[in-house]
Amino acid sequence: MKQRIYGLETEYGVARLSSDPNWSVSAAVRQLFSGINYDSQASTFLGNGGRLYVDVGDHPEYATAECDSLRDLLVQDRAGDLMLSRRVRAFNEKHEDSGQSLRIFRNNLDAHGNSFGCHENYLVSREETAHLSDSFFSFLITRTLLTGAGAIMLPHQAARITRPRYVVSPRSQLLDAMLSSRSTSERPLINTRDQPLANPLQYRRVHVMAGDTNVSETATAMKIASTLLVLAALETGINWDDLSLANPLAALRTVGLDLEGGAELELADGRRMSAAQIQSEIIRRLGGVDAFGNLTADPTVTVAGKQWQEMTEAARTQDFSALARSVDWVAKGQLLDQYRSREGLAWTHPRLRELDWAYHDVSGSLRERLEKLGHLPRLTRDEDVESAVNFPPATTRAHARGTLIAAARRCHRDYRADWTGITVGSKGEVKADLPDPFEPLQSETATLVHRIESLG
Ligand code: ATP
Ligand code: MG
Ligand code: MG
Repeated sequence: MKQRIYGLETEYGVARLSSDPNWSVSAAVRQLFSGINYDSQASTFLGNGGRLYVDVGDHPEYATAECDSLRDLLVQDRAGDLMLSRRVRAFNEKHEDSGQSLRIFRNNLDAHGNSFGCHENYLVSREETAHLSDSFFSFLITRTLLTGAGAIMLPHQAARITRPRYVVSPRSQLLDAMLSSRSTSERPLINTRDQPLANPLQYRRVHVMAGDTNVSETATAMKIASTLLVLAALETGINWDDLSLANPLAALRTVGLDLEGGAELELADGRRMSAAQIQSEIIRRLGGVDAFGNLTADPTVTVAGKQWQEMTEAARTQDFSALARSVDWVAKGQLLDQYRSREGLAWTHPRLRELDWAYHDVSGSLRERLEKLGHLPRLTRDEDVESAVNFPPATTRAHARGTLIAAARRCHRDYRADWTGITVGSKGEVKADLPDPFEPLQSETATLVHRIESLG
């Protein structure tokens, strides 16, 4: 599939600052969502076609609308940060006098060691089982070297962390299964619950739970682009099963701790290769950057794919300074290292941990500053992100969903939506079935908007 539907779900971490021990995060998070029916399955969908709700453990979760271009995905994803940061600011201003405030983080680990995720969803054809192959796992595990978000981890946060230390990827230390449909009792790399959100005879949805949440837009773009290229290649029959890992979960942990980037992973056939060598070889099997344009119909994916190759090459030669503007764990690691050596602080020091969190704080100012200084280059423009808060991608069924929701809200009509359909009106008078994620229903949507506007 050259043209593919995909979406990103981000679970945000929440911290409260209050002198009042009775002040609960749950109550605060609910207030944060006032105006959105956060716990009603029916109304958690937004006018931009995405979904915002409170997941178990009081985590706000934002799922982007279905996208078929990387540019759309990046702005839709960033729109989630903007919506939440605005809500946090308004909440904090309102509660300023009582000394209560909230912070929201784009990260994967709270102080107690609870982990939350960033899920990638890719539509694949049902006949293709390529996404469940050893090749796909070798790719997912070794890409951690470039997608890790970095974290200071303490021993109580994960069994395998024996001393306070900085890690490449917090999520890699907490995943405990390769495939599973029980995503609450186990933490798999891929959730196999069979819910394609499209014609089940034709499609599956690959639900990847292996990645960290990236702050760097370059890292997010590279993560999605490389996965799209790999899925496309696997579907055409290219594979690198000869690079299967002997013990994939152990390899994931190794990559997730490897700050030198040279750790060797054991392959099933007994050879040993580093994560960067494996990524490099995968790019070669894909046909190198010259073949990227043939594997995707999206020029932004081709560009991000080239960046993937450059980043892999830098990692292979262990030139991490070349990754400081794109790879989160390297960018944040440099900040932490400078601060740590200047002040002579231990990893457990609260000021160091605060700097770690500040990097992920969507309502704070550090990310913005790093972006303005060019330390973390932006791939999205403010005006496009602003527009994505209210408008859905134009080329997928999200167009119909978002446009009808916006009309329902404008006209103060009830609506019920899920990924595959929407009804508007107290009796469900206006209805659109959306079984095909590729179908934006352009002209039908315009007609349905008129019907919503003329509901009695
Ligand atoms: P959970 O939150 O328990 O993981 P979930 O992943 O099944 O649940 P949502 O949180 O609602 O469900 O997120 C669905 C994601 O899948 C969204 O990002 C959406 O854009 C994307 N998506 C929707 N339909 C498809 C599809 N047919 N193929 C691929 N992705 C899809
Ligand atoms: Mg979700
Ligand atoms: Mg999910």
